[in-house]
Amino acid sequence: MKYGILGDIHSNLSALQSVLECFDREGVERVVSVGDVVGYGAAPSECIAILRDREARVVKGNHDAACAGGLDVLRFNPFARAAVAWTRSAIGDEEVAWLGALPLVAELEHCCVGHGTFHRPELFDYVLSSTDGDPSLDAMEKAVCFVGHTHVPLALLRLHEDPLRTWTCFDPEDLEEIDVAQARRSLINVGSVGQPRDDDSRAAYALFDSDLERVWIRRVAYDIDREAARIRAAGLPEVLADRLSLGV
Ligand code: ZN
Repeated sequence: MKYGILGDIHSNLSALQSVLECFDREGVERVVSVGDVVGYGAAPSECIAILRDREARVVKGNHDAACAGGLDVLRFNPFARAAVAWTRSAIGDEEVAWLGALPLVAELEHCCVGHGTFHRPELFDYVLSSTDGDPSLDAMEKAVCFVGHTHVPLALLRLHEDPLRTWTCFDPEDLEEIDVAQARRSLINVGSVGQPRDDDSRAAYALFDSDLERVWIRRVAYDIDREAARIRAAGLPEVLADRLSLGV
């Protein structure tokens, strides 16, 4: 099965469309999202509609939960909070209900997906190191799992030859092709479609071929100016438009 795994779209329609074009070129059979469909960007309804149309398996991110009223925004920074308020006013009740009904974790045939962690998914903690990731690696129901939330691609592998150590990889070159057959457990952060924060402004996504037991983290350029203009026209905070071209 060829999975296309994407997340942290954050209402960025141009980036989502560019990633889905890549999925179609690569022959992706199943679209899966690690959450945060909305928040920050200015096209929430369009992004929700596309995922539903593609029959994507989607889990709930913290911004999705906040927009659905299921998470207090006190922990959000002021710009994120403004984006939650704007999104709530921009989407309909039916879309709010769809966001609210998303599961925290989804189990597929060959992998599991969540937003932050697997041991306490409701806390939306960040996995930025092996220390952060170890409880998730212990709790994982499948050998290969995918998360998002940090907007930074990452792979944590427990290799067959050395299962007590968690091998950590942030290097983009090493993430280009990940051999998950060599690992007992693999926890992979697919990066962000709509708001990358690793100084690379291109949209990030992952391909997972369960037959080949390989994962590829890929990047694709998209029309940032168009999306930034949409954010400004919506009256969202200027910084949310500016940061897209910086990849922060
Ligand atoms: Zn996010």
